[in-house]
Amino acid sequence: MHLIPCPWCGPRDEAEFNYRGDATVRRPAPDAGVDAFYDYVYTRANPRGWHTEWWHHAGGCRQFVKVVRHTMTHAIAGAGRATDEMPLPKEGRAAE
Ligand SMILES: [Zn+2]
Repeated sequence: MHLIPCPWCGPRDEAEFNYRGDATVRRPAPDAGVDAFYDYVYTRANPRGWHTEWWHHAGGCRQFVKVVRHTMTHAIAGAGRATDEMPLPKEGRAAE
């Protein structure tokens, strides 16, 4: 059991959350072209190390939470609101 520190509800069981994907993906400009939109929709990194992700607190406040999670250990370094900057821990982001 892992606890995700929801900024609205406090630490809650991960079973209350749904994983919603990579929080580092940014929508390209409207004129960026087909390849840029293909990458935006389909291409994802598979990082080994700290990663920023979206989790939806479906069993609680129903808010989207930005979570910094280690993909190997599942350790959670922190969580915040959608607009929060979530710096990765000092060891940084592992190779993607
Ligand atoms: Zn919540």
